[in-house]
Amino acid sequence: MIARKCDRCGKFYEPYEEKNECNMNNVNGVAFVHMNTDNTYSGATNDGHDLCHECLMAVIAFVREVSKK
Ligand SMILES: [Zn+2]
Repeated sequence: MIARKCDRCGKFYEPYEEKNECNMNNVNGVAFVHMNTDNTYSGATNDGHDLCHECLMAVIAFVREVSKK
């Protein structure tokens, strides 16, 4: 079994949401993108960050809270 290490908290975890399609129901990490002025993006960086499920939920909650402002 492959274990991954969370880049935020350092905890080891088993991979989750391994479907090879990207939507908010199956994300399992974070990468930075270049945002265009029309709120589309034109590419993602190659240095994605592994996140355990708890840290991913914390990042999503943070982004959603920032988006409300
Ligand atoms: Zn974590």
